[in-house]
Amino acid sequence: MSGRLSGKVAIVTGSSSGIGQSIAVRFAEEGAIIVVDYRNHPEGANDTKKQIESKGAKAITVQADVSKLADNQRLVDQAWEQLGGCDILVNNAGIEKGADFWDVTEEDYDAVLNVNLKGAFFLTQFFVCRLRDAKRPGRIINISSVHEDMAFPHFSTYCVSKGGMRMFARNLAVELGPLGITINNIAPGAIMTPINKTLLDDKPKLNALLENIPLGRMGKPEDVAGLAAFLASDEAAYVTGSTYIIDGGLTVNYHEQ
Ligand code: NAP
Repeated sequence: MSGRLSGKVAIVTGSSSGIGQSIAVRFAEEGAIIVVDYRNHPEGANDTKKQIESKGAKAITVQADVSKLADNQRLVDQAWEQLGGCDILVNNAGIEKGADFWDVTEEDYDAVLNVNLKGAFFLTQFFVCRLRDAKRPGRIINISSVHEDMAFPHFSTYCVSKGGMRMFARNLAVELGPLGITINNIAPGAIMTPINKTLLDDKPKLNALLENIPLGRMGKPEDVAGLAAFLASDEAAYVTGSTYIIDGGLTVNYHEQ
C-alpha cells in the first residue's frame, strides 16, 4: 500500500485492544506492515489483523508478554525473520492498578513497572541493537500518559512507570540520535478504551472529568493514532526527545474561577 509509512515494518505492543489497535490499523492505512503483539487476547489481535487485511495491508500476530525479556527478544526476531526487518517500534502495552500508596503490594508494583517500564526498556534495547548492527535508522514511539508529569492520586505505581518513561525518551534521544533513531512520547489524557471501564461506568465521575476537558469530550483511540502516524512518518524526521500531549486541553485547564 502507498502512504507515509509505505514499505516500513512496525511492531505495536498491546495492539489487541484500545489505543494500540487503533495505531496498528492507522499505520497499516499509511502503508506499513504490522506486527500485532498481544498478551492474553488472541481474539483481539486477530480482530486487529482482520481490520488491517480488510484495508489491503499485511499483518502478523505474535503473542509476547512485554514484561518477559525472552518474549521481547522473540518479538523482534519474528519481525526480522518473517518480514525482513523492523523500522518502527510503538511501546504501547500498559496496565494500571489503583491503590492508596500505603496499600501498594510488591506484587502490584512489579506487575505495573514490569509491563509499563521494564518491558518498554528491554524491548527497545532489542529493537535498537538490530538496527545498530544493520546500520538502519528507526523510530520509537512510547505511549506514555499525561501522568508522566501530572499527579494521579492512588495510582502511584502507574505514575512512577510513566514518569520513568519520560526520562527514558529524553536520555535515549541523546544516545540514539547518532544512529539515526528518533524517540518520542505521546501523553494521552482520558481516552475511551477498556482501561477506563470503571470510569466510563461511573456517570457522576465521568461528568466531573468532562467538565475539566476544554474540548468537552474524551479522546478517541483514533485521535492518538493520528499523532502516532505523524511521529512515525518522514514528516517528523527532525523530532526527537519530546513528549506530545493529547488531552483536549485537560492539563492546562487549571484557572481561577
Ligand atoms: P487497553 O485497551 O486496556 O489495552 C491494553 C493493551 O496492552 C492490550 O492490548 C493488552 O493485551 C496489552 N498488554 C497488557 N499487558 C501486556 C503485556 N504484559 N504484554 C503485552 N501486551 C500487554 O488500554 P489502552 O487504554 O489502549 O492503553 C494503551 C496504553 O495507553 C497504555 O500504556 C496506557 O497506559 C496508555 N494510556 C491510556 C490512556 C487512556 O485513557 N485510555 C491514557 C493515557 C495513557 P491483551 O489484552 O492481549 O492482554
